[in-house]
Amino acid sequence: MSGASVILFVNLMVGGLLTAFFLVLALYDRRLVSARWFAGAYGFGVAYIVGEFIIPFLVDATPVSILSSSSMVVALALLNIGIASRYKVRPPLLFLGIAFVLSVGVFAVTAGMPRDSMVRNFLYQTPFFAMQAAGAWIVLSGRSRKLIDLALASFLGMTSLHYFSKPFASILLGGPGARPQDYIATAYAMFSQSMGTVFVLATALTLMALLVSDLLRDVTWRSVTDPLSGLLNRRGFEEKLAEMLAKRGSSGPPLSLVFIDLDRFKSINDTFGHAAGDRVIETFADILREASAGLHVIGRVGGEEYAVALSHCNAATAQLFAESVRAAFGETQVDGFPEGQRFSASFGVATLDGPETPSALMERADAALYEAKRAGRNCVRLASVRADGPVPLRVVS
Ligand code: GH3
Ligand code: MG
Ligand code: MG
Repeated sequence: MSGASVILFVNLMVGGLLTAFFLVLALYDRRLVSARWFAGAYGFGVAYIVGEFIIPFLVDATPVSILSSSSMVVALALLNIGIASRYKVRPPLLFLGIAFVLSVGVFAVTAGMPRDSMVRNFLYQTPFFAMQAAGAWIVLSGRSRKLIDLALASFLGMTSLHYFSKPFASILLGGPGARPQDYIATAYAMFSQSMGTVFVLATALTLMALLVSDLLRDVTWRSVTDPLSGLLNRRGFEEKLAEMLAKRGSSGPPLSLVFIDLDRFKSINDTFGHAAGDRVIETFADILREASAGLHVIGRVGGEEYAVALSHCNAATAQLFAESVRAAFGETQVDGFPEGQRFSASFGVATLDGPETPSALMERADAALYEAKRAGRNCVRLASVRADGPVPLRVVS
């Protein structure tokens, strides 16, 4: 077994493992569409390697040689589609399709040319060079410019240059052999296959890291998001509030917290059903989102309970916000409810008073909300002083 065929054998194993890895990832989370394309790409990569193994034993190697090289082009096209899917870029399908057809033509033409011809070698490498360059271009057309994105674009760009350099390396290393059957035993094959392995692995490891980090980000996102309303859940909201307080320090700008509880929600469920109740929960979340205009942090912190953290807002501003949401909710016709059916909510507002822990601030907002309920609901109450003293509540509406 020549050195190049040992490397080819290692590549076969690595290709198989990469195919399996991306297949498992695709099955684990069906939303990871790019993993399916990557599994297909490495699968075709394995087909290419199998072809290279068979070729030395054939009398006429041309058909398998064309088929094997074409498999590699398909592999790179699938890789590019997967990358486009990951980067939310439109896949250049027309380019890839035309490139594939031209590639098969190139492989058919170059099969009849002398293997040490520079023109033949340039022509032969062009499809691979173009496909890998397209991959780098797709990554850079995406919006993300993190280190990992730049690393991926660089590896794809370097692989592209590697293909471009092969005709020169071929001259330096004595050529790819007189016949396709001789390739595997040449020093050039050793260089070509081992460098290829390095670039394939660098790209594959980066893609793996990218998809695993996507998966982790998604799991983290789900752990802090309420699926019904799309708002932060209690955990997410509390984490965000603690973050805001820590960032603000002890003498930063004012910060207010609004706690909200929908009124008589049990009777809404009892009268109209749980699904109808869910629609009210969603509608109220939409109202909060619209009123916040992306400026405030909003959470659904209980069944029909919400919290809004308003950075740079004093008590008067937060009170205005609460009143506007109360008014908007009171005027909203929720889908599927009888015409004219209206709902209400109660609000408690607390404004940060010096250095205060998140839980102390939340306790004061909750106490103000309780007071709003006690006052007959559908109103806003303001907590005026710190929780470390008695907690008198100021009636504001
Ligand atoms: P109050 O004005 O005092 O707040 O009265 P209330 O009926 O809203 O009182 P309470 O807070 O005790 O009841 C909340 C109800 O919200 C109880 C529960 O059945 C309902 N609920 C909690 N989570 C959900 C949910 O996800 N969907 C629906 N439809 N109902 C929920
Ligand atoms: Mg409640
Ligand atoms: Mg309630």
